[in-house]
Amino acid sequence: MSEERSLNFLEEIIEEDIKLGKHDGRVLTRFPPEPNGYLHIGHAKSICLNFGLGKKYHGKTNLRFDDTNPVTEEVEYVESIKNDIRWLGFQWDKELYTSDYFETLYGYAVTLIKKGFAYVDDSTADEIAASKGTPTEPGTPTPYRSRTVEENLALFEDMRAGKYPDGAKVLRAKIDLANPNMHMRDPLLYRIKHTHHHRTGDKWCIYPMYDFAHGQSDSIEQITHSVCTLEFIPHRELYNWLIAQLEIFPSKQYEFARLNMTYTVMSKRRLLQLVNEKHVEGWDDPRMPTISGLRRRGYTPASIRNFCDRIGVAKRENVIDVGLLEFCIREDLNKTAWRRMAVLDPIKLVITNYPEGQEEVLHGENNPEVEGGEGGRDIPFSRELWIEREDFMENAPKKFFRLGPGLSVRLKHAYIVTCEDFVKDADGNVTEVHCSYVANSKSGEDTSGMKVKGTIHWVSVGHAKTATVRIYDRLFSVENPMATDGDFKSTLNPDSLQIIEKAYIEPDLAGAELGKGYQFIRKGYFTLDTTSGADHLVFNQTVGLRDTWAKEVKKG
Ligand code: ATP
Ligand code: MG
Repeated sequence: MSEERSLNFLEEIIEEDIKLGKHDGRVLTRFPPEPNGYLHIGHAKSICLNFGLGKKYHGKTNLRFDDTNPVTEEVEYVESIKNDIRWLGFQWDKELYTSDYFETLYGYAVTLIKKGFAYVDDSTADEIAASKGTPTEPGTPTPYRSRTVEENLALFEDMRAGKYPDGAKVLRAKIDLANPNMHMRDPLLYRIKHTHHHRTGDKWCIYPMYDFAHGQSDSIEQITHSVCTLEFIPHRELYNWLIAQLEIFPSKQYEFARLNMTYTVMSKRRLLQLVNEKHVEGWDDPRMPTISGLRRRGYTPASIRNFCDRIGVAKRENVIDVGLLEFCIREDLNKTAWRRMAVLDPIKLVITNYPEGQEEVLHGENNPEVEGGEGGRDIPFSRELWIEREDFMENAPKKFFRLGPGLSVRLKHAYIVTCEDFVKDADGNVTEVHCSYVANSKSGEDTSGMKVKGTIHWVSVGHAKTATVRIYDRLFSVENPMATDGDFKSTLNPDSLQIIEKAYIEPDLAGAELGKGYQFIRKGYFTLDTTSGADHLVFNQTVGLRDTWAKEVKKG
């Protein structure tokens, strides 16, 4: 698929740069996460894009932790980010940390001060905001803007030495208070924060702002194409200005539209709220749009890469239907998941003419959709079976091709049975269905000549294993949870998790492997949960079988 599609706008830029011999045709991109949370599917988009460009153009991609805010950053996040990138199938060239550049960045700030392009400002945050003007009115200088170079150098050194409390002073670039781009009106470069940093410890009490770290880090690493999301367009002028004044490597910034998805919030800060307030089990709750959540849910790396490829690279904001993501995993699992039988809401079926105590071993293929999938597993069969409650109806309508009084179906991989009778409990619930089977109707060697329309799945009562099965629905019940004035938690779907405590599964599933997909025939795709153990199996539903998205697209 990726071979056939036309170039996206970033590929066009890069190919032009290579043609012109820019940077000797070298391509170096980077993925720059802030280690303040787990990666989500939006980050996967950025990872596929940055690593994809590096690979396509025989270049490299750095992993750079943008760790300039010591308050929210943690080692746990660093480890999870590395794990998720590897799992997605990418390998970075260098693992780098912006905090490793603190000394260099400090030096850059001193250079700017010496050139008269930066000053120490004692104004409060409110005062600075008030003096910035509005997009239509120029800002006004604070009393500190006219400090001499010597004074600024001394004060900045004292800031570093820890002589002032948090918020007492900042370092600002001295650019243009009338610039129509508010980011150019003497932006903040450094602030004081007496906070322990997860890597530099207590060495620093001043930390660079995003705008005075990001572009400079790109330069230090000699990144050729620095790709970020659209909200950084107004920062680009400052990005270029700082590189020009510092006369450092001319990295260039390019912006693409971030991934937004229906029924999803896509921000680490908000996802952290869901975790902290226990609306979900954790960052890797299978309902979360995090990479770790999707992995636990049963998504494969290939399905996520395929999704990112399909949505392409846009220059304008858009919202992707979450159904497309579900389509991509369904497409993948259809080809890779092994077929198995599990009964989620059981009632008992008794085959009255099958001898008591008799059993036989039937055979089922792993996956009829793929070559090599015909190798399969043994399935024990006996007189008593579990079937799905919904596969029996006392008063079945005409087109109900399952079981009801007098109706016949095929039991998957087994025999044709005809319903003769059923038993109800005192409350009127059906508890047992009685059938007779046709002995010469066995799948693969059927000589009965009988034609039946329906096939149902089953599990032998005497051989069944039990499992907890967790069925998921969307975490939010509205398409755009953020449209609710920030009160996104009011739109959480109260039915996003349904737990089936005791499902019956065919014995082969007791050997299910973590990370592998299984199709429970007629029920959807499932995978073993990370909490599953040999004495207590737990399965997560990855996605249902029905492909509503493809249908919608055809209709539309
Ligand atoms: P969040 O708001 O979720 O914290 P962020 O942009 O602050 O996201 P970073 O860790 O700074 O998170 O992001 C690392 C990289 O991933 C950045 O280059 C950023 O542009 C990109 N990225 C983040 N969210 C998305 C998204 N939804 N779609 C595409 N790229 C994204
Ligand atoms: Mg960020």
